[in-house]
Amino acid sequence: MNIHEYQAKAVLKEFGVPVPRGIPAFSVDEAVKAAGQLGGPVWVVKAQIHAGGRGKGGGVKVVKSADAVKAEAERMLGMTLVTHQTGPHGRVVHRLYVEEGSAIARELYLSMLVDRATSRVAFIVSTEGGMDIEEVAHKTPEKILTLQVDPATGIQPYHGRRIAQALKVTGDTAKQLQKLVGDLYRAFLAKDMSLLEINPLVITDKGNVICLDAKLNFDDNALYRHPEIQELNDPNEEDPAELEAKKYDLNFIKLDGSIGCLVNGAGLAMATMDIIKLYGEEPANFLDVGGGASKEKVTAAFKILLKDKAVKGILVNIFGGIMRCDIIAEGIIAAAKETGLPVPLVARLSGTNADLGKKILSESGLNLIPADDLADAAEKIVKAIKKAA
Ligand code: GDP
Ligand code: MN
Repeated sequence: MNIHEYQAKAVLKEFGVPVPRGIPAFSVDEAVKAAGQLGGPVWVVKAQIHAGGRGKGGGVKVVKSADAVKAEAERMLGMTLVTHQTGPHGRVVHRLYVEEGSAIARELYLSMLVDRATSRVAFIVSTEGGMDIEEVAHKTPEKILTLQVDPATGIQPYHGRRIAQALKVTGDTAKQLQKLVGDLYRAFLAKDMSLLEINPLVITDKGNVICLDAKLNFDDNALYRHPEIQELNDPNEEDPAELEAKKYDLNFIKLDGSIGCLVNGAGLAMATMDIIKLYGEEPANFLDVGGGASKEKVTAAFKILLKDKAVKGILVNIFGGIMRCDIIAEGIIAAAKETGLPVPLVARLSGTNADLGKKILSESGLNLIPADDLADAAEKIVKAIKKAA
């Protein structure tokens, strides 16, 4: 789960992490009020969306008057912010964060993640802050230090020293940085984070260490332990189709292609996506209705597929084990009757009650194309959408 920058900073602050003073704002009036409370003379107005690269897209502005805060708030609220992380459609800005300005001497990079290769929490730091870290990793990998923490001994003073050295920080600034490393590590473990990224981590002109940006990602499987984090969820930041799918406990992920897939089991979903690609098309989604799907669940799944304008054809690929093929057939018919079936549909049913399922589909009067196996199904749906186009 992702949260907004202002929420991430509030979480980190609880652990003693230095962040600029700031106030979230949901309207222009609130932004103006926040500017007054913070006092100036420099403010930063920051669009709050779950994506980075806001600075380059016009979503982060440093301003020097309360009037300018107002003007930026008016411009940003409601705007569609496009960054290299949002995709071409961008995200609509509904929230702002107004912060006191910081006098930046250096911009550094610090992140933490669970390194799967070593099963350890790792720090990744670089002197090249404020930039795209992927680009730094690509062009100047020697400027990045990765440092693992042994869970048996936990965070040690030498981790902080090593990081300070890599970031070319000395004296009192190094002391602040070493304390920060410990505080971030404790926060990471206590909140079951999967990712923490401070970019930029800033050294001010007075030599103080401040986290100017913060991105946190939490392990969904541990969220039940953190109702206070769950509360920070912003449904505006989620794909509406994925939200709808969650309601029915469907595993749904929107993709960029044209063929909607309705499948049971993640393995079968992957195989289905692969074979669609093999026949020259791209899947529009990953939709797994799971093992014990009801007619209602299948109907909901089908409606989600049909709502997506990018879907030019549907491939139903069911292996009936616990899931009975007749239930799938009934779900398809119920949904198609409600919404119509504007695109070709190929169904491959196999396993428990497959014959009954096929019979129900063929007697439905709907325009369905039956298929015998996976390859046959993929070939038929690709042909069908080419013909329709
Ligand atoms: P991102 O573009 O979404 O990663 O947003 P950031 O919060 O990282 O802000 C982008 C850039 O804006 C930073 O790298 C800084 O260069 C600049 N910036 C942000 N806050 C301040 C500030 O308080 N003072 C100054 N001078 N620059 C800032
Ligand atoms: Mn940033």
